[in-house]
Parts: sequence; structure tokens; C-alpha cells
Amino acid sequence: MALFGLNLYTSNTIQDIVVADRQQSMEGKAQLITATLLQLEELTANQVESAVNAMEELQASRMVVTDAYGYALYDSLEIGNGEGKLLLFPELIKALQGNDVFFSSYRDHVIESRLAIPLVRGGRILGAVYLMEYQPDQGELINALETNVLRISVILEAAIILVALFFSSAFSRKLRQILASVRNMRDGDYSQKITLKGHDELVRLGQEFNELAERLEGSEQRRRQFVSDASHELKTPLASIKLLSDSILQNEMDPATEREFIGDIGREADRLGRLTQKLLALTKLDSAISKEMEILDGKATVLKVARMLRPLAKLREIRLDCSCQDNCTLMMVEDDLYQIVFNLTENAIKYNRDRGWVGLELSRQDGEVELLVSDSGVGIPEEARPRIFDRFYRVDKARSRAAGGSGLGLAIVHAMVERNDGTITVAPREGGGTVFRVRFPIFDLQEEE
Ligand code: ADP
Repeated sequence: MALFGLNLYTSNTIQDIVVADRQQSMEGKAQLITATLLQLEELTANQVESAVNAMEELQASRMVVTDAYGYALYDSLEIGNGEGKLLLFPELIKALQGNDVFFSSYRDHVIESRLAIPLVRGGRILGAVYLMEYQPDQGELINALETNVLRISVILEAAIILVALFFSSAFSRKLRQILASVRNMRDGDYSQKITLKGHDELVRLGQEFNELAERLEGSEQRRRQFVSDASHELKTPLASIKLLSDSILQNEMDPATEREFIGDIGREADRLGRLTQKLLALTKLDSAISKEMEILDGKATVLKVARMLRPLAKLREIRLDCSCQDNCTLMMVEDDLYQIVFNLTENAIKYNRDRGWVGLELSRQDGEVELLVSDSGVGIPEEARPRIFDRFYRVDKARSRAAGGSGLGLAIVHAMVERNDGTITVAPREGGGTVFRVRFPIFDLQEEE
């Protein structure tokens, strides 16, 4: 359609060019005639005829000169000049009113042009000159040009359609592949990667999609693992509770044993409570909701944790030493620092030997606040260190269980450290035991002001 319009436009432009050329040439002729005629003393038929005949180079299909009233003085078409004949062509009437008139039409491959201009001397209209040209050859030219333009545009149209078809089929093939992969992903299959060749936007979209699929696959795998681990952890205390309660119901037992069994049920219920609490904490950490930050005094938090856990340490005669520098100000999510110090210190006590030692040190180091939690405990074997922050990971399951552990404490610590822009590392302590090193950017009150 657009090309058809272009076609029409081109053909009109060719006609315009030819017509403009005609107008210019006819105006030239008419001006020559009027200049010659205006030199005559009188505008009579004889004088006009001899003047016109003298201008041999003038050629027109018809040439007419009239007086001021439209009566012919000269008409090249009439035998005997047609003198005295009233000529009322519309172009002539307009010219006798003082206007220059040009009109051109193109019909049946022929251009017909008419031009009329007044003969004015001393502000008076003495008559008019009328020229008419009838040109089949120019029409043929336009016709040939039009045919050529038409041919070229048809070829162009076909080429454009072919190119468009090629690109649109390549485009829709790529889109189909992307769509198929999106559908597979929706159905839970992340393995189907998009393999598109080229450098266009769709190829880039495919690459982005593959990365997204990989990430989703990873998080889906972690989620499944988490759910299965969590169910397993929940199942164990529930099974114990069921076993203990069945024993009480089915067996005749003395009150002391019964009390002992009920006590065990209570302990398993406590374990369940702790486990669900930690699971909830982890789920909250996973949600992307941004938490409010607060300015904290690190020393106060460390001393608070030490106060809370000293009774637990005392039970096994473990010494708990604290050494804290002042001015360890931090900007952290509320309660995160407390939870981090608490979990690390509780572990240091839990996985210690009787009459052992736990040390908490807080200091400023190279623009950061550093917390060291050291213990003289059982230590963490080298091969277990990389997995120590994984959810539900425990070096010694029986020991952890006996100590009331769930394998979630360090995972919570790790997530909290990360969301507060900190770092955490674990290393063996010289002379036995473990050192956890946590660092956070310091919050300088003066600098902030
Ligand atoms: P749990 O609830 O079992 O204590 P954690 O995530 O806190 O879970 O710790 C994971 C495991 O790392 C523990 O089961 C324990 O084996 C080991 N662990 C953690 N802290 C220490 C430590 N200070 N000394 C020795 N082992 C530790």
C-alpha cells in the first residue's frame, strides 16, 4: 500500500516537473510575443500578422492575439487569421481582466497546456495573447517513466516483502523457542536452556532468561532441601513424644518412671518449640522485607549476652571472659547483634569441655568493629568448616542433639551478618578450640554529623 502511494506520488511529481517546464517555456514565448507586439504603433490584424510571421522560431499548436474586447486579430488555426471573430475562451477572458493565466491537463497520455497574458501599455489593456500547446510526445515520456517507476516499485515491494518474511519468520522462531522454555519453567522444568544464535535483543533476552532459570533452579533446590530437612528435624522429636506417650498408656509403670517419661516428653516439646522458633527466624530472614536499623553500642550488647549466658557456663564450670573496647558503635538491624553474639557464645559453651574457657573480645580494627568468640572446646574439623553455616548442618549429630541443638544457629548468624554488611570467618584456636571472627563497618557518630 505504501509503495502504491509512493508510485502515485512519483508519477505526480514527474507530471509536475513536466508541467512546470511547459509553463516556463510558454511564458518565455508569450513574453517575447507581447514585447514584440507592444512595440507596434497600432494593434491591427495586419501588423500583428506580419509581426508574428517575423518570429519564425515561435512554435505553438495554436496562437491567438485579440484586441481589448476579445475579437481576434490573429489566430494561427484559422485560415485568413480569423480576424474579427469573438473568442471567449475562459483563459482569454481572465487575461483581458489583467491576469496571467496558465492551465495544464494530462489526459490519455497527452499534455495540453494553455496560457494567456494581457497586452498592457501605459496601464491600459490593449488585448491579450493566448497560446495553446498539445504534446503527445511529452505524454509518452511521462507514460514511459510511470511504467518504469511502477516496475521498480513492484520489484522493490517484492524484495521488501521477502526480506520482511525472512526476518519475521526468524523472529517468530526465536519467540517460539523462548515461549516453550517459559512454559517448561512454569511447569517446574528449569533444565531447558534457550540456545539462540546472533546478537539481537531476543538473543539477549534468552541469555537473561537462562540466568534467571539457573537462579530459580538453585533457589528451588535449596527450598526443597530446606523443607525436607525441616520436616525430618520436626519428625524426630514428634516420634519420641509419640513413643513415650504410647509407653505410658500401654505399660503399667511405677509413678517415678512415669514422671521421668513425662519429663522426657516435656523436653522433646521444648526442642520442638526451639526448632520452630528458629525456623520462623530463618523464614523472616529470607523474606526481602527491609528491616529498620538502629545505632547500637557493641559493648553493651556483648556484656548483656555474657550476663545471660554466665549461668549456663557455670553449670559446667566454664570461665566466661569479656574484654570490650568503648566506642564500638554500629548501625544494625534491631536485635541482630544480640542474636549473633548469643548464638556464637552459646555454641562456644555447648561445644566446650567441662571447666573450659570462653572469651568474648570486642575492638575497633581498621575502621571496623571486630568481635572474637573463642573457646577451648572440641574444635571444628577442617573438612567441616566450609559447611558449618549450612542449614541443619551438624558436625556431631548426637552431641548437638544432646546439647539441644538444631543445626540452625550458625545459619541464622550467617544470614544476619550478611544483611548487616558484615563478614564472618571460623578458624581453629591455638591450643585447641575454635575462634569465630565477625566484622562490621563501624558507625562513626562524629563523621555522620
Ligand atoms: P546447633 O544448633 O547444632 O548448635 P549450629 O548451627 O549453631 O547448630 O552449629 C552447627 C554445628 O557446628 C554444631 O552442631 C556443631 O557441630 C558445630 N559448632 C558450632 N559452634 C561450634 C564451636 N564453638 N565449637 C565446636 N563446634 C561448633
